Amino acid sequence: MKNLIAPLTALSLMATEACAQPDQQIRVSNVGTQRAIQGAAENFTGAVRVEGLFKGDAPARIGGGTVTFEPGARTAWHTHPLGQTLIVTAGVGYVQQAGGVRQEIRPGDTVWIPAHVRHWHGATATHGMTHIAIAEAEDGKAVTWAEHVTDAEYAGASTPAGQ
Ligand code: MN
Repeated sequence: MKNLIAPLTALSLMATEACAQPDQQIRVSNVGTQRAIQGAAENFTGAVRVEGLFKGDAPARIGGGTVTFEPGARTAWHTHPLGQTLIVTAGVGYVQQAGGVRQEIRPGDTVWIPAHVRHWHGATATHGMTHIAIAEAEDGKAVTWAEHVTDAEYAGASTPAGQ
């Protein structure tokens, strides 16, 4: 057993040394040290707060933040060039893709939105909702914004695919 483990350990150490840059340090961003950002009115309807923004260093493309929607608040229609993952942490919300049905999402639910799929996400009319949003950037861009979600669309009216 010892003879088997020793070479494996040596191999994994070599791999680590080959990849890590000597000046790379783990970076902890402590909660409460970053000012909350209000969601811009051109991209959201209602009160939306973004906290805990994070972004990996290149060549990593990962980035995101924790987004809180007050009741009735939602994103505008938008797409992500490389898709998006949502992890719901509080409240009750909706996610809907163009041409699809509005789906209810709750804490513990995870959502994968494929690349270039037009969609919106937000709170229900009666409950707020918080999710962690994670997306990879393509050429430095992680989202393409479109029109606001109308009250009729938000209320669950069917939407034409691709519209
Ligand atoms: Mn999205």
